[in-house]
Amino acid sequence: MPELPEVEALAGYLRQRAVGRRVDRLEIAAISALKTYEPAPTAVAGRAVVDASRHGKFLDVLFEGDLHLVVHLARAGWLHYREAFPATTPLRPGKGPIALRVRLDDGSGFDLTEAGTQKKLAAYLVTDLAAVPGVVKLGPDALAADLATFAERLRSRRGQVKGVLTDQSVLSGVGNAYSDEILHAAKLSPFAITDRLTDDQLAGLHAATRQVLGDAVERSLGQRAAELKGEKRSGLKVHARTGLPCPVCGDTVREVSFADSSLQYCATCQTGGKPLADRRLSRLVR
Ligand SMILES: [Zn+2]
Repeated sequence: MPELPEVEALAGYLRQRAVGRRVDRLEIAAISALKTYEPAPTAVAGRAVVDASRHGKFLDVLFEGDLHLVVHLARAGWLHYREAFPATTPLRPGKGPIALRVRLDDGSGFDLTEAGTQKKLAAYLVTDLAAVPGVVKLGPDALAADLATFAERLRSRRGQVKGVLTDQSVLSGVGNAYSDEILHAAKLSPFAITDRLTDDQLAGLHAATRQVLGDAVERSLGQRAAELKGEKRSGLKVHARTGLPCPVCGDTVREVSFADSSLQYCATCQTGGKPLADRRLSRLVR
């Protein structure tokens, strides 16, 4: 799932490549992906792209006249920039990976795609960002928040730090992958309870958040949008690395179920060497 660093890089790429170009047309292939009716997709035609930015994990493409195309890429969504499209014939609504396509006046443009059969990518065409439900609820940006804001937000919600850190209404931008990385860098158990964290632990968590996200943004920005996906994996130390050695201490990276997914961690670095109990499994056995 694209998180803050990848979406930031996609926005950065669009700022370089698409800003100043005029839209030829916006085509919708997956009708269910577009969550708004008014303005209609035809309203984008003829407008210049004036900016591209990020709100949490949402990508925001701004067209002249304050028209925003806001996209949440969900689990398997991505943006592919095309220097040219093979045909000028409009996309046909269907089951392919392309959800929507923006054609620009120089023949280039981009496709928003979604792999797999579960279609969760959501696009909103709005003149007011407040009309996008997920954006309104976002907490402060995880990368931009200063220590005081960060600590206040984390302490405001009592729960396991893994869950609180990925709650977009607490802090925005961090998902399953980077929360594993941040907690590993901070040497904190994913199951630590937020309101019991000491000031030092919160300061360490804040520093780790900035470092992990900042490094990932840097790495991602250096890549072309089409190549970003592979880069995410190569920079990770524990996430999706179950059974592999921790690059910091050499212990084996472990996995435990969490919410409707799983998390990865290093017991030596994060939990005093003690493996975390799989609560779902133990509930089942009992
Ligand atoms: Zn380790």
